[in-house]
Amino acid sequence: MTEWQPVIGLEIHVQLKTRTKMFCRCENIRGADENTRTCPVCLAHPGALPVPNGQAIEWTILLGHALGCTIAERSLFHRKNYFYPDLPKGYQISQYDKPLCEGGRFLVPREDGQLEVGIVRAHLEEDAAKTVHVGGAAGRIQGAETSLVDFNRGGTPLVEIVTEPDLHVAEDARTFLQLLRQTVVELGISDAEMEKGSLRCDANVSVRPAGETGLRTKTELKNMNSFTFVTRGIEAELERQISLYEAGGEVEQETLHFDPQSGQLSSLRSKEEAHDYRYFPEPDLVAIEPDAALVGELASQLPEHPATRLRRLEETFGLSFYDAQVLNGSRPTVELFEALVEAGAEAKASANVLQNQLSAAAVDPATVNAAELAEVIGARDTLPRETFATAIGKSGDAGFKAAPYLEDAAVSDADELEPLVDAILEANPDQVSAYRGGKDGLLGFFVGQVMKETQGKADPRVVNELLREKLKD
Ligand SMILES: [Zn+2]
Repeated sequence: MTEWQPVIGLEIHVQLKTRTKMFCRCENIRGADENTRTCPVCLAHPGALPVPNGQAIEWTILLGHALGCTIAERSLFHRKNYFYPDLPKGYQISQYDKPLCEGGRFLVPREDGQLEVGIVRAHLEEDAAKTVHVGGAAGRIQGAETSLVDFNRGGTPLVEIVTEPDLHVAEDARTFLQLLRQTVVELGISDAEMEKGSLRCDANVSVRPAGETGLRTKTELKNMNSFTFVTRGIEAELERQISLYEAGGEVEQETLHFDPQSGQLSSLRSKEEAHDYRYFPEPDLVAIEPDAALVGELASQLPEHPATRLRRLEETFGLSFYDAQVLNGSRPTVELFEALVEAGAEAKASANVLQNQLSAAAVDPATVNAAELAEVIGARDTLPRETFATAIGKSGDAGFKAAPYLEDAAVSDADELEPLVDAILEANPDQVSAYRGGKDGLLGFFVGQVMKETQGKADPRVVNELLREKLKD
């Protein structure tokens, strides 16, 4: 029985949230009425000339830094020629052999070490328009009665990131993609939402017998629009290729569509080679030669990388990998966590509260007053559960104060409770002798008296201990 090793590389498209499109001044927004954000440039009227969006170039450099890439001193836009109804020019302005960012590496922390994924390149291009198929099943072209084109998306800026085929487990592709998404979101350059299409992922998949070093024929899985579908699509394709080889067949180079409903893969087309696109340098645009000072300045603007932050959460605060990973999923949560610890709350308890009660109560961590919440967390052992939960749930409200909730704290100070216990024993001599004579059940009576006197705020554990001690005599 041959043991097969999966070989997976990803191509990720990230839609940048610049104010305007890549080569014209049309507004770059989603959700506007169809064909209301267009102009002669993005509709490819004859003679219209593109002007590159400086913000998009800077953001691509910023992302290149975050991916550990080298930023090109001289980079070119190329024309990628193909015909499709959503591409009015008959070519896409993209980048070919002179991309803006090349040769990076991206680390994904794991409990047992880390996953290292090489980045081949990250380049800038324009998106195609959006074709909407009407009348067919699930909006697909097969069986559609009509197809409509919305040119609002045409010409919006996209960054394409290509990884080395360094992934060998479908689940790792998802882990990598999630961390990449978080990085992009924290850079503030895209909302990177898979279900809305502002983050899209294609996977290049092949298998080889374990120990073989060369790469076998790969297939490309297109546009999987959720993290789960990425894993499931890759798994289905790995299975298909392995059964093909085991039946003595061969894998053909093609582009496939994964249908999450049926779990089936269908062929979209045989895969094109680069020469099919007849790339040539875009004659209407000059080379991009970013100023070294600007490239350096952008590097200094990088926020802490989520992978670095995860390790810091583990090492500085002694959190487990799991706790650190959950917190690290959102920067505002990490910031609140750090502020809580700074304000004196215990790290592990704070992590628990943030992961459980705070998120269950849907409190926005950015609105929480850390000093007040730290006091509530500090009193967690003495507060009735309900009071604790209510306080956490309100901690994001404007003007939230811990003090009113802390009044409910159980009195667990034995010195404070002792005189009260003494007074109650003195007031009930008959019950005391009965207890000492063997009626153990009377302990509950004494506890009840203490709770009544303290309006339920005494810590029953401490009261029990005190009573047992005193009733021994
Ligand atoms: Zn336009």
